[in-house]
Amino acid sequence: MHTLETLPFDNAFARLPSTFYTRLAPEPLPRPYLVAASAEVAGLIGLDPAELTRPEFPQIFAGNQLLPGSEPLAAVYSGHQFGMWAGQLGDGRAHLLGEIAGPGRGWEIQLKGAGQTPYSRFADGRAVLRSSIREYLCSEAMAALGIPTTRALCVVGSDAPVRRETIETAAVVTRLAPSFIRFGSFEHWRATRQMDTLRQLADYVIDRFRPECRDAATPYDALLRDVGRRTGELIAHWQAVGFMHGVMNTDNMSILGLTLDYGPFGFMDTFDAGHICNHSDDHGRYSYKSQPQIGHWNLYALGRALAPLIGEQGAVQAAIEESYAPAFERHFMDLMRAKLGLTQALPGDEDFIGETFGLLQDHHPDYTQFFRQLGRLPAQVDEAGRVAADAPLRDLFIDRAAADAWLGMWRARLGAEARPDAERQATMQAVNPKYVLRNWIAESAIRAARSGDYSEVHAVHACLSRPFDEQPEYERFAAPPPEWAAGLAVSCSS
Ligand code: AMP
Ligand code: MG
Repeated sequence: MHTLETLPFDNAFARLPSTFYTRLAPEPLPRPYLVAASAEVAGLIGLDPAELTRPEFPQIFAGNQLLPGSEPLAAVYSGHQFGMWAGQLGDGRAHLLGEIAGPGRGWEIQLKGAGQTPYSRFADGRAVLRSSIREYLCSEAMAALGIPTTRALCVVGSDAPVRRETIETAAVVTRLAPSFIRFGSFEHWRATRQMDTLRQLADYVIDRFRPECRDAATPYDALLRDVGRRTGELIAHWQAVGFMHGVMNTDNMSILGLTLDYGPFGFMDTFDAGHICNHSDDHGRYSYKSQPQIGHWNLYALGRALAPLIGEQGAVQAAIEESYAPAFERHFMDLMRAKLGLTQALPGDEDFIGETFGLLQDHHPDYTQFFRQLGRLPAQVDEAGRVAADAPLRDLFIDRAAADAWLGMWRARLGAEARPDAERQATMQAVNPKYVLRNWIAESAIRAARSGDYSEVHAVHACLSRPFDEQPEYERFAAPPPEWAAGLAVSCSS
């Protein structure tokens, strides 16, 4: 177990040429205090959980004291924002401290909100308490759901004012990931026609994270296929759990296929395929139903960037078409079958899953509750007991007849597989979360935190670290939005 002083830094990204970044120290934040910290994430880097309670901890993760061995830097990248080329962006408010060598893979540690960098453009380099708590809670909730994501070690707050739509207070969230390299990191070197640098970045990613691509006949082609497959699987997972990222710009797309840059994300409450979780997304480019095609679009942006390394355009197109959509479809079907309690792939499953989304779209039940309650129903019912047995699911519908008709189809499909009820119900509860980070839950934790009470942040974190378990003490977090939350809106402002 390490102390803060003995964390074994080995900063591979900082050993790349200085064209990739600017070295600079974080900007101090006055009187930082700890809002929340994760012992589990500390464990990923071998940090003794007792270290989280040291007085130095908030100073270090506010950026006021440097960890020995760290070499802080901000990386440059570019990207497409809302479908338009945005040119150079970069870590405008992120400081990469370095990488902790681990027994398996290393973990990079990054402060988000620790002040301006050469890539801040006209912004202040800060993050607010609200968005930092959202990123912290959602990173950890996604990890517990089994969805690839960057992790969050802690949130440190300060009373320093930060101007957004209103005056808020500053915070820093500390993130961990094997790498924060984005699609936009590659687009940057392609757009500035620096092909040697582009190749160097691709080699770095392959050598460090995807050594199997090196053995392929065409390594860069293999890398694009790897990203295509992982991105397809990632977005399949988002769709299955009802997660909307909100800002799928290419600068927010991880080259490792992780969920990256939590902003105006949302989890589906009452189902609506057209739901737009980002209030600033006027045209719904990043609506729930658009996410799969946006993933595809983003891969083409990456493919154009990698094209000089891969060769002809035909090869780029083949790499994307043979990786992304097949991976998405395969993974999405597998995840949906599991959510429905089905183990075998049978002809007609696509139609049945389509019918299921049709039912959800027509009747708007709560998405999370729909699957959770379905997992409680028996495979067989007699007519006399049916209404009582099906009540957990039927009660989510105003039109009970529509639910009954669909349940008839579901039972017919279940009948094609013989599995004991108890076993099927247990496996369904293990894939259909009871608890997700609904906006209203994040908001209520944020409101308490603003008045200095962090207990709700800790409670939400604890609850969402076991999203599939019944937790009677947190029953309140399983509820759909209460009336006060009806008008909640989240925007790009963070
Ligand atoms: P985002 O929409 O948060 O992914 O950010 C897009 C770009 O704007 C990235 O280059 C960020 O680093 C930068 N950015 C966002 N907010 C700030 C801020 N408050 N200060 C400096 N840069 C920012
Ligand atoms: Mg971003």
